[in-house]
Amino acid sequence: MAIMVNFGMGKTAPELRGTSIHGLKMTEQHLLQEELAHYKQIVSSTPDMISLVNRDLVYQIVNDAYLKNYKKQRDELIGKTVREVVGDEIFERISKPNLQRAFAGETAYVEDWLMVPEMGRRYLAITFHPVRAKNEPPEYVAINVRDITPLKQAEADRQRIFDVSLDMLCVASFDGYFEELNPAWTRTLGWKEEELKAGKWIDLVIASDREATQAAHARLLRGETLVGFENRFRCKDGSIKWISWNSFPDLEKRQVFAVARDVTERRKLEEELRRLATTDPLTGANNRRHFIEQAAAELTRSRRYGSPLAVVMIDVDHFKRINDTYGHDAGDEVLRRMVDCCLQTLRSSDIFGRFGGEEFAAVLQESSQETALQTCARLAKKLAKMKIRTPRGEISLTVSIGLTMLSGPDQSIDALLKRADNALYEAKKAGRNRMVLH
Ligand code: GH3
Ligand code: MG
Ligand code: MG
Repeated sequence: MAIMVNFGMGKTAPELRGTSIHGLKMTEQHLLQEELAHYKQIVSSTPDMISLVNRDLVYQIVNDAYLKNYKKQRDELIGKTVREVVGDEIFERISKPNLQRAFAGETAYVEDWLMVPEMGRRYLAITFHPVRAKNEPPEYVAINVRDITPLKQAEADRQRIFDVSLDMLCVASFDGYFEELNPAWTRTLGWKEEELKAGKWIDLVIASDREATQAAHARLLRGETLVGFENRFRCKDGSIKWISWNSFPDLEKRQVFAVARDVTERRKLEEELRRLATTDPLTGANNRRHFIEQAAAELTRSRRYGSPLAVVMIDVDHFKRINDTYGHDAGDEVLRRMVDCCLQTLRSSDIFGRFGGEEFAAVLQESSQETALQTCARLAKKLAKMKIRTPRGEISLTVSIGLTMLSGPDQSIDALLKRADNALYEAKKAGRNRMVLH
């Protein structure tokens, strides 16, 4: 005997009459009645459209939501076939095959965009439940229709934002693979989605940025949020791009959600600004301010470690004559060639800069007095050997050099430079093309 939950509000279908609760004790009957009343309430108040159809595919029961959406009275639906109510197209495509499956005992689920009479185009999630007593073939199928159009629309909107975002959006697994990527990745790096997903994303980070990236990733895996982390990626065309990251871990899902942005242009601009702020435009050497900054830092370091340090001032002899004889442009070329020669001669750990017009300075770190004197002599010799060809003939030059050593604790970089400058002045006074140590 079937115990049937009566979905119907107000009217009981003829087939269901007499299928209730014979043979149960009064208290059990009472409890069951109460339970049924509960179900009735739920079914009548749910926004889902619930209906029950028999094997002839005729509506037996429809709930209030069904009537409301179809703008129909219960009498207009009960006794009608599903085909009559939903129309041929939906019936053939959706209702018929799924009802068949449900009557065969399966619960069927389908979701799709449907043109529903009175409702328009809606995205519906429809479940077809077989309704039956134990071990009997289903006598009825309960159809539950949920309108998830807003949800679907939100999903579509989200997808659209995902697709058109200029930022690169992604979900990555904790073990380092991309799981979801938006098209901005391909637009930015050139790699196709499959290529990006094929290996660990860290392999696309340039080698010199990997260690810092691993460290940042380890912080993420511990639950930290990463804001503004920047590293460089290899693009498909071989170029390198700076990427800035905002990443959020989900410890439960073991996934990282990230918004990444190409900041290559900003980085280049910063680099260019830094260059402009620290170098001399004519020769590319450190400018006076940047030289002094670096020299002061080097002085502090040398004092801390008690290591020797030499400060050198170099000035071209009679440079005014060079300008006057060969022209200002030739003078400029002399200055550029001098810088090249000095940078080649000094060690990369030494600090070198253009101090003024034709005046240069250097700080030789870890350099004893003897080494400093040797270095300066070698430099002067190399500079004197230079030949600069101009339309008005070949230029050669000499320099005068002032030199001093760090000694005692109380000297600022200014004091050392002043002492080297005094030494230089003496070298000039003594007839040029020489060096003086103070
Ligand atoms: P001394 O041996 O005493 O150093 O004589 P000098 O002629 O080298 O020294 P002075 O200071 O009299 O002249 C330096 C000249 O350097 C004057 C100036 O026009 C020139 N000068 C300064 N800056 C530049 C530059 O950027 N390019 C060129 N071509 N000349 C410059
Ligand atoms: Mg000079
Ligand atoms: Mg000078």
